[in-house]
Amino acid sequence: MSVSEKEAWEEVIRLVVETVSRELSVLDTLPGHSFSIPVEVSNRHCHLTRETFELLYGKGQQLTPIRQLSQVGEFACKETVTVVGPNMRFLENVRIVGPWRKHDQVELSFTDGFYLGLELPTRLSGDIVDSPPVILVGPKQAVTLKEGAIRAARHLHLSPDEAQRFQLRNGDKVDIEVPGTNGLVFREVIVRVSPTGRLAFHIDTDEANAAGIKGTGFGRLVR
Ligand SMILES: [Zn+2]
Repeated sequence: MSVSEKEAWEEVIRLVVETVSRELSVLDTLPGHSFSIPVEVSNRHCHLTRETFELLYGKGQQLTPIRQLSQVGEFACKETVTVVGPNMRFLENVRIVGPWRKHDQVELSFTDGFYLGLELPTRLSGDIVDSPPVILVGPKQAVTLKEGAIRAARHLHLSPDEAQRFQLRNGDKVDIEVPGTNGLVFREVIVRVSPTGRLAFHIDTDEANAAGIKGTGFGRLVR
């Protein structure tokens, strides 16, 4: 085989591999196909306004990022708060997730809610109207939030490109299966498409424990 023939064959093989990989990656997005969606477990955390943070930590204090999260621009901070509920119990070391938000919001599991004496509504992040009040304690002082304690609704993040690949739109609801001895199908998962979104299925610690997920896992669309 001449050098030019060899190069031509290599080009053909490269094209075949590329085409097959592309077709397979589309297969990964189809309901019932391989478990390709990363599952991420959100521990209890809060999002704060700059004003509330400065009340808790002191004027001019800044958030200290310690870990970037999967969603672009979001980061876990060194700073934490103590959350106090109406039955006089509290949870320490509740991590602040940056950047600043327009509203204060504390995301807790149902188990946390029972412990603190809070009846938590299941909401998408940002939807806090009429959610229960809660007290936050920082190193400087305590702050009472008039509302903001929620249980985060299970949701699937995607970038616009990923949404197109999965043929999903913002606000759609899907079912996602996770495998294993304690495997489950999570119903009513809300699809969130955003330019800063990256493919990830977000559940809380109660949901992760129920499905036997430790740390991270993978799921697939079943509908
Ligand atoms: Zn999320």
